[in-house]
Amino acid sequence: MVTQTVECIEMEVEMPKSYVTRLRCKRCEYKWVPRIPSPAVCPKCHSPYWNKSATRKTGVRRNKR
Ligand SMILES: [Zn+2]
Repeated sequence: MVTQTVECIEMEVEMPKSYVTRLRCKRCEYKWVPRIPSPAVCPKCHSPYWNKSATRKTGVRRNKR
């Protein structure tokens, strides 16, 4: 039996450039690579609800005051 000596190779931990998070606007279908994890608005349509699905008047208050 031939036993191979496996040398411990130092793995360089580097972030691949392909590892980028692309965001997509649910309003205008615009895709972009953000500089920050969660931008406030879509850079194209400037909608603050780019990451939220189309909602129809959420939080309807029925208070008559
Ligand atoms: Zn948009």
